[in-house]
Amino acid sequence: MSKQLFFNKFKEIISQYKHVVIVSHVNPDGDAIGSSLAFYYFLLKLGIDAKVIIPNDYPSFLSWMPGIGDILIFDKNQEKGVEYLNSADLICYLDFNHPSRTGLVHNDLCHFKRIPRLLIDHHRDADYSQFVAYLSEVETSSTSELVAELIQHQGFDKYLDDNIATCLLVGIMTDTGSFAHSIYHPETFEICGSMISPTVDYQLIHSKIYNTFSENRLRLLGYCISNRMKTLDEYKTAYIYLTKADLESFDYQVGDTEGVVNFPLMIDNIKMAVLITERQGVIRFSFRSKGDFSVHELAKTHFNGGGHTNAAGGTLDCDMEQAIDTFLNVLPQYKELLNK
Ligand code: 5GP
Ligand code: MN
Repeated sequence: MSKQLFFNKFKEIISQYKHVVIVSHVNPDGDAIGSSLAFYYFLLKLGIDAKVIIPNDYPSFLSWMPGIGDILIFDKNQEKGVEYLNSADLICYLDFNHPSRTGLVHNDLCHFKRIPRLLIDHHRDADYSQFVAYLSEVETSSTSELVAELIQHQGFDKYLDDNIATCLLVGIMTDTGSFAHSIYHPETFEICGSMISPTVDYQLIHSKIYNTFSENRLRLLGYCISNRMKTLDEYKTAYIYLTKADLESFDYQVGDTEGVVNFPLMIDNIKMAVLITERQGVIRFSFRSKGDFSVHELAKTHFNGGGHTNAAGGTLDCDMEQAIDTFLNVLPQYKELLNK
């Protein structure tokens, strides 16, 4: 289904459903929350009963977002989440395309297989046969940009309001690292420009996202760079590792390590940056790269994950020492590509 066809048919498709549940991915980021909430507000405007479910809590720097209190956090209220899914006649996947990305919700998504699915996402490798309709564009900054385009196509004059614009700007801003990467075409700037207004203040939104650190969070960032960053010049790679004890000593809160992985890329000769953290009994990998080195391929092949060319994630079920060993053992295979 082409983007244009999705835009043209959207109202006809969505009007067949009355109770829509929007689901986004585990460890939701600004784009997951921004795109889901904007789509939620848009569906409400179309007279559709909509709900939003996220698998686990959002980072505190998103807690000011309009509509955030309406979101159901599945691991805090599973019973209600299942009730939502049970009464849905359409489930929309926003900012992910495979149910394995939904943490605890995964089991129940499988249980409610009979309910049709719709997809809005910018990740690769989607299995389109799972969806009654899909808006799936890999070369787009964010799912929020896709939702913005969808709403623009239906008429910004009719549907855009301050809440929707704010949510979409948060999603695009965070997935592009404040418009620093993942921009494939000038339309990204154009659509953002058309959502900014006297009552939707870009600088204020930016400040609410990026200038609201706790003191502990900023000190943790300093510690990561001073004490926990290792550089591997022959692979043009730097990694930062954080144990559970490290996180606890800085009174870790959800979202506190967001953005940390980007810092090593500020070093001129570094092409890949990795953040390795110990989380609830598993090891989380966050990968970032500059240029055409694909961390998606690396994460998919060796770390049970995936993502995009320049940003990906993965998980290993082992301890920190083994995780670092695995990573160091994988690197030689990529030496040539990293030094290209
Ligand atoms: P982050 O490092 O910020 O957690 O994730 C970076 C990007 O990779 C995001 O676009 C995210 O959706 C994707 N990603 C993170 N973890 C995984 C994973 O385990 N599997 C897949 N397929 N994508 C992931
Ligand atoms: Mn995204």
